[in-house]
Amino acid sequence: MRAVITDFGIEETLKTLGIDAVNDGTSTGSNHFSNGEIIESYSPVDGKLIGKVKTTTKADYDKVMDAATKAFKTWRDIPAPQRGEIVRQFGNKLRELKEPLGKLVSYEMGKSLQEGYGEVQEMIDICDFAVGLSRQLNGQTIPSERPGHVMREQWHPIGVVGIISAFNFPVAVWAWNTALAWICGDVCVWKASEKTPLCAVACQNIIAEILKDNNLPEGISCIINGDYRVGEFMTTDNKIALVSATGSTRMGRIVGKTVAERFGKSLLELGGNNAIIITPSADLKVIVPGAVFGAVGTCGQRCTSTRRLIIHDSVYNKVKDAIVGAYKQLTIGNPLDEKNHIGPLIDKDAVNTYLAAIEKAKAEGGNVLVEGGVLEGEGYESGCYVKPAIVEAENHFEIVQHETFAPILYLMKYSGDVENAIEKQNGVAQGLSSAIMTNELKEAEKFLSYAGSDCGIANVNIGTSGAEIGGAFGGEKETGGGRESGSDAWKVYMRRQTNTINYSDELPLAQGIKFDL
Ligand code: NAD
Repeated sequence: MRAVITDFGIEETLKTLGIDAVNDGTSTGSNHFSNGEIIESYSPVDGKLIGKVKTTTKADYDKVMDAATKAFKTWRDIPAPQRGEIVRQFGNKLRELKEPLGKLVSYEMGKSLQEGYGEVQEMIDICDFAVGLSRQLNGQTIPSERPGHVMREQWHPIGVVGIISAFNFPVAVWAWNTALAWICGDVCVWKASEKTPLCAVACQNIIAEILKDNNLPEGISCIINGDYRVGEFMTTDNKIALVSATGSTRMGRIVGKTVAERFGKSLLELGGNNAIIITPSADLKVIVPGAVFGAVGTCGQRCTSTRRLIIHDSVYNKVKDAIVGAYKQLTIGNPLDEKNHIGPLIDKDAVNTYLAAIEKAKAEGGNVLVEGGVLEGEGYESGCYVKPAIVEAENHFEIVQHETFAPILYLMKYSGDVENAIEKQNGVAQGLSSAIMTNELKEAEKFLSYAGSDCGIANVNIGTSGAEIGGAFGGEKETGGGRESGSDAWKVYMRRQTNTINYSDELPLAQGIKFDL
């Protein structure tokens, strides 16, 4: 069966990325191991079939793991700065292919073209970061309590890293993990979201070419295709030293437990329920773009999307009117068209979840300020375009406590001191991103203090979404506790070893213990 290709240039885009979706109708990524049933990838932009991908069977998976474990032995022998050189080449290739890859991200996932390019830019940025880091995987020397002894700490590669990723960042999250894992000397096996399989095939094709050009085994980077059942091959496999899983809290609960049962390591990046606190001194010029982009950007499908605005009662009406006014300016439509602010949700299941959440908010006593709903007619044929909604709600509502991956923004009031707002902000199960809008130094510092926000990310006078790769990214509580990307997140991809070296002629024991013979 031939895949139907749309006419905006996707055929050319796929070809540039090495994906033959027209002729053989299936693509496995250049490691050619997958022989299972076929996943069809439909674009949420226009509902058309983009291409098909074969899933990975258990027998295919075993071959992938064979290739990966063999490749690890070659890769770990290569000095870290030389591994960095491969990542540098990969980053350069991404610079060349930013346009087609960004377009595919936008078309397969539904985010705006600018955000698609932005995602590829994040891949480039993490490559640059990793290249520098490849000369800084430093351990430390620790003073020994024994004479003639020295203690040292060093970092070794961990082995095969399994990456499970979500649909909403179909390429960047893989790159955050893999660029660091590679410079650390690990090899990676990636199971991308079954909702965005072609993005994964494109990435694999890009890195496979770099590895081939450098005479390196392709097992350094592998992909496996399919849904949670294929993910389970990795979570239950002792040969996978670290599972880095990005997705819902529901998924993380299962993955975390399964990996812990076999004493594997896991890095969990799960759901958020992010709030912005708006204090009396906050500036509307900062509040409105921060809150509106946070709530509707990527159609509310970012883990860091703004879900709640906690507004001081003295400025509540002013802020509410400004936000509601800004929503009237939003344009919804084909995300490849720059004039549109908002594209579609990923699929019709997501649309149903969004509709059900609005109904639940109403049933719990929410007051709808901006009506949601599904758009129909020309340009909206995929059935995935929805209107962003605003609901006045209470923090304790069950629906507010829950992450709905859609553009629904809950407005609520606080009164008195900023501590009351912080209590609300922290009063959810998730702990990913948070922000305060204030011009009062004391309020900002309280929010950032140990008694302030309990999230992995806490911002002042910017919104909750749009993190830079230089900082460690991740969150607490039901967000999973993992950190990836910048700062010292690289350490999770390595194993730490403590060495004690005796250069004296005696063997004194620690803690002054005597053992005379
Ligand atoms: P999802 O949990 O449905 O799927 C994520 C991935 O996990 C997919 O590849 C899926 O196949 C796999 N998976 C699901 N169950 C599994 C299992 N039992 N074993 C192994 N693999 C399994 O999430 P989604 O709908 O693709 O993405 C949206 C969610 O991801 C949101 O909750 C969002 O907040 C979260 N997210 C978090 C971050 C972060 O950094 N914290 C980043 C992006 C997305």
